[in-house]
Amino acid sequence: MPIPFNRPHLTGKEAHYMYDAVYEGKLSGNGKYTQLCQRFFEEYYGFGKCLLTTSCTDALEMAALLVDIQPGDEVIMPSYTFVSTANAFILRGANIRFCDSRSEEPNINAELIEELITPRTKAIVPVHYAGVACDMERIMALAAKYNLWVVEDAAQAIDSYYTFSDGTQKALGSIGHLAAFSFHETKNIISGEGGMLAVNDECFKARAEIIWEKGTNRSSFFRGEVDKYGWVDIGSSFLPSEIIAAFLWAQLEHLEQIQQCRKAIWQAYYDGLQEWAVRHGIGLPIIPPYASNNAHMFYLICQSLEQRTALIEHLKKNRILAVFHYLSLHKSPFYAPRHDGRELPNSDRYSDCLVRLPMYYGLEVEQVVEELIKF
Ligand SMILES: *Cc1c(COP(=O)(O)O)cnc(C)c1O
Repeated sequence: MPIPFNRPHLTGKEAHYMYDAVYEGKLSGNGKYTQLCQRFFEEYYGFGKCLLTTSCTDALEMAALLVDIQPGDEVIMPSYTFVSTANAFILRGANIRFCDSRSEEPNINAELIEELITPRTKAIVPVHYAGVACDMERIMALAAKYNLWVVEDAAQAIDSYYTFSDGTQKALGSIGHLAAFSFHETKNIISGEGGMLAVNDECFKARAEIIWEKGTNRSSFFRGEVDKYGWVDIGSSFLPSEIIAAFLWAQLEHLEQIQQCRKAIWQAYYDGLQEWAVRHGIGLPIIPPYASNNAHMFYLICQSLEQRTALIEHLKKNRILAVFHYLSLHKSPFYAPRHDGRELPNSDRYSDCLVRLPMYYGLEVEQVVEELIKF
C-alpha cells in the first residue's frame, strides 16, 4: 500500500453531528456547535474569547484588523512560514521585516528580533513551527518593552505548551494578545477547512466579535444587549457554518486519543531513526527545554538540497510520500523586490534541507523507518 503524506482522520461522529446540525435547521454560524467548540477551547486551554473562523488565514486577517495595521506599519515574523502569516498583514498595507530562524530548529530566532524593531513596528508574529513553541518569554518581554502586539500563528500548535522560567506552563495560543489556529485537514484536529482566533487581550474582545460578523453588532443584539443591530465597524464574514463546527466538535471529543496516537508515531520515528540520523549527519527535530511536543510534524534536516532530493526520490520509489516545506518568504517572487536585502541563512537552509515525513493517525510508521534506514 502506498503511504501518503497525510490522511485525514475521522473519529466516527462527524457525519452524525453534521446531520444533527442540518436537521436542527440552524445552518449558518454561531449556533450550538460553534459555541460548544469555542467554550471547550476557552475552558480546556485557558484561551481568552475564542471565535471559530473559516480558516487560520481568516483568523490572521482578523488579527491584522484588530491590531489596526496602517499602511507603512512594520510587522516582524519569520521568513520560514506559510504565506498567510504575511499576507494577512500585507493586505492592511504593512511592511514585513522578516527574521531568521534559529540554527537548531526552524522557529524565529528571538535574539534577532530587537534589532529589527523601529518606531513603525506594530506587531511581532511568532509562528510555532511543527507545534513547537517559540521563545515566548523573550518575545513577550520585547513586546512589553516596545509596546508591541504579539499575534501567535498557532496554526500547527493546538495542544502544545510553553514553560516560563518561573515554572508556569501555558498553552500555546494563550500567551500572545491574539492567536490564530488552523483546522485544515493537514493539522492535528481538523474540519476540512477551518480555524479559530483566540482573543486573549481584553481590549480586543468586543471589537473581535463585530469584525467576525461583517462589522455588525449582531452578537450583542442576540444577547439582548442592544435593541437594534446595524453596521458599526469594518469587518467581514469570518465565521464558519454550523456544519463545519459540528464536524470539529466530533474531533474535539477525541482530542486526547488523537494526540496520544500522534505522539506514539512521533516517538517511533525518533527512536527508530536516531542512530541512522547520527551516522548520516541528518538532523532530527529538536524540542527546546521550554517547549512541549504536540506531534504535529516529524521532519528531518538533510545536509544539502541534493541529499534531500535523493531522499525524497528514494521514498517515492518505494511509494512513500515525503515532502519539503516552505520556501523562504523573503525570496518569494512576491516579496523579494520588497525585502530589505538582509541574508537569512537559516531560513534558506530549512527551505533547502528540511523534509517532512508522513504523519497521520494510523500511520504504519515502521515501514517508513525501514525504508529510510535503507537509504
Ligand atoms: C496551515 C497554516 C496556516 C494556514 O491555515 P489555513 O487554515 O489553511 O488558513 C497558516 N500558518 C501556518 C504556520 C500554517 O501551518
